[in-house]
Amino acid sequence: MNDFIPYAKPSITVLEREYVNDAMKSGWGKNCYSYIDKFEENFSQYIGSKFCIATSSCTGAMTIGLHALGIGAGDEVILADTNWIATVAPIVNLGAKPIFVDIDPITWCIDAKSVISAITDKTKAVVATHLYGNICDLEQLKNLCDKYSLFLIEDAAEALGGFYNKKHVGTMGVFSVFSFHGTKTMTTGEGGALITSDENFYDEALTLSNHGRNINETKQFWPSKIGYKFKMSNIQAALGCAQLIRVNSLVKRKREILDFYKNELQEILHIKMNQSSKNSEMASWMPVAVFKKEVGISREIILANLKKSNIDGRVFFFPLSSLDLFEAVPENRFSYDIPTRAINLPSFHDISKAQMSRVCDVLRSLM
Ligand SMILES: *Cc1c(COP(=O)(O)O)cnc(C)c1O
Repeated sequence: MNDFIPYAKPSITVLEREYVNDAMKSGWGKNCYSYIDKFEENFSQYIGSKFCIATSSCTGAMTIGLHALGIGAGDEVILADTNWIATVAPIVNLGAKPIFVDIDPITWCIDAKSVISAITDKTKAVVATHLYGNICDLEQLKNLCDKYSLFLIEDAAEALGGFYNKKHVGTMGVFSVFSFHGTKTMTTGEGGALITSDENFYDEALTLSNHGRNINETKQFWPSKIGYKFKMSNIQAALGCAQLIRVNSLVKRKREILDFYKNELQEILHIKMNQSSKNSEMASWMPVAVFKKEVGISREIILANLKKSNIDGRVFFFPLSSLDLFEAVPENRFSYDIPTRAINLPSFHDISKAQMSRVCDVLRSLM
């Protein structure tokens, strides 16, 4: 039997182990936040924004961010139907109503025209998720958010290292969130970040993230509101600091892997792969193969064949509105159609050419 090919796996070197060991040895007492502080500083510097709050997950960062904007009961938030549950759960948990709109068939990211027709007088914000590392048309979304006085939020969990207009993604929304889950381009085990350059928003988010305690409060143990505890640990932050030193090579490797698959599969096989909006450079987090309709292949067939070859493929996100949790919106036709004939391909840092070729061979054998 061929060796098992996982779809994701972090790259952990001696550097990461040294940093984590140091945090375990000396990151206590008055040093108990030292790696967290360093990580927040280095990450906002890398992205090119003023402020960063390191969190226990991207979901936590999104919850704090939405709450800090005052989003809650009676409000509507527009997002792409094609999304991970983590993007919508905080909206629902805060009592707001998610409005699912269709994706662009080329970039698989939220379609700006569909956003316009979904705006009501209850709409407060639009979430732009850079799906699989493909970058949203941020300029169009920013313009329409400005026009209708809506907050633009970037879910950049899958887009570390991506650019829009030569700037890192995550800098155009009032805030953006990143994920450092073990499947993402850079990891802290579990973890996330909230990024912003808006000082008032940052103050509010920081207070909420610190159990409602304002940073200028001099009295000990004195929260002024009910907040959250979604903090990244110092040990995780140490891992993050080490990964940040290697971030350019982590992102570069993702690009190499996607390019390899694209060269092997695109055109020849009636397969479409990741594409980004104009003015952007994609982050290439997850290589996705979408079989053209006329090929007549379903995700179930693709998955079963990969499994037979000991390869871990993953399905393209189901439309959130198709879950039993929500009311279906089948009018979002691209969100409903594309996942039926698409698959995520293994793309971990250390994947070999031979392993990627094995994946391609399986897909080719389906033609
Ligand atoms: C991974 C992911 C998240 C959630 O990240 P966690 O760190 O697991 O909370 C949110 N949005 C998108 C688009 C993701 O891919």
